Amino acid sequence: MDLESLGWDASFADSFRPHADDGLAPARVAVEHRSEYVLYSAHGELRAELSGRLRLDGQQPAVGDWVAIRPRPDEGRATIQAVLERRSAFMRKVPWLEVKAQVVAANVDVVFIVVGLDGNFNVRRMERYLTLAWESGAQPVVLLTKADLCDDVDARVFESEAVAIGVPVHAVSAPTGDGVELVRSYVPAGKTAALLGSSGVGKSTLVNALVGEELLATREVREDSRGRHTTTQRQLVPLPHGGLVLDTPGMRELQLWDADGGLDTTFADVQSFAAQCRFADCAHGREPGCAVRAALADGTLDVERFESWRKLERELEHLELKQDAHARSEARKERRRFARSLRKTSY
Ligand code: GDP
Ligand code: ZN
Repeated sequence: MDLESLGWDASFADSFRPHADDGLAPARVAVEHRSEYVLYSAHGELRAELSGRLRLDGQQPAVGDWVAIRPRPDEGRATIQAVLERRSAFMRKVPWLEVKAQVVAANVDVVFIVVGLDGNFNVRRMERYLTLAWESGAQPVVLLTKADLCDDVDARVFESEAVAIGVPVHAVSAPTGDGVELVRSYVPAGKTAALLGSSGVGKSTLVNALVGEELLATREVREDSRGRHTTTQRQLVPLPHGGLVLDTPGMRELQLWDADGGLDTTFADVQSFAAQCRFADCAHGREPGCAVRAALADGTLDVERFESWRKLERELEHLELKQDAHARSEARKERRRFARSLRKTSY
């Protein structure tokens, strides 16, 4: 296994330098189990546990992370001593801990936003995933799957481009193979791709198409310490033509969370209208000099897109409220003030 084909480059090497001085080796997290990791390294595949110090710090590597390890090659094992700085990260909220975020995937270069061209085609869902993608730091690419089931592919591509501003949009079909080569071109050797999209849109089918016939080879059968055979499904899958696909259960369940920055990028057009409103805190309701309402009125801004932005913004606010007990009590006070003011004005 050479590190470059796993995504290693000068900037990771840079952040690794202090660990090299400590005699550690670099490795990339391929699988995350409950208490054990599978790593790709110059020593091949290794099973690994966290060092006591990492455990104490509560630092947890995620699939895709580059880590500094102390290898024990004869045992096929290693200890993870440090997690290198991430280039991109998909986060999710830990359900049982109110305010903690957990990284579900790290160092993804390209994120395919997968939307089906069959019955449930929906640009609003695309905006949701774009927000997540921009927030992560990975480069989004929109893939419209099941092109073989759609009579009007060009119109759908056009519709998507209007929403995914500055993002490449491609139609693909698994059964005909159309577009698959193009998808592959986004994941050359050393690059890592991940997929986002609702269940049933064709993500697994696409991964299979990218992996081709080598899929079986990516499932390893190994004997564990008790002599049983255990099968490990890799979560960081090397593609036969180079590149890697990151496919974890965590990515599949990913929800919109804490993605203010991503929202601004996804809706850069709405933001630029909002920036022209007379009042900085304009709610785009009845305020005078509201550039957003003006753009809606003359059709420069699509009403549904505006509403989609509002909805996602509200959702993020709502999630923030859930995270932040202080904000929550403030909001409750605000609601009370509002209710009181209603009582005063009603008769
Ligand atoms: P996932 O849940 O996103 O992983 O979706 P799957 O890959 O499991 O696909 C869901 C269903 O859509 C399966 O029955 C696939 O065979 C079908 N499917 C996926 N891609 C295509 C495609 O390009 N064309 C057609 N006609 N069906 C597809
Ligand atoms: Zn306004």
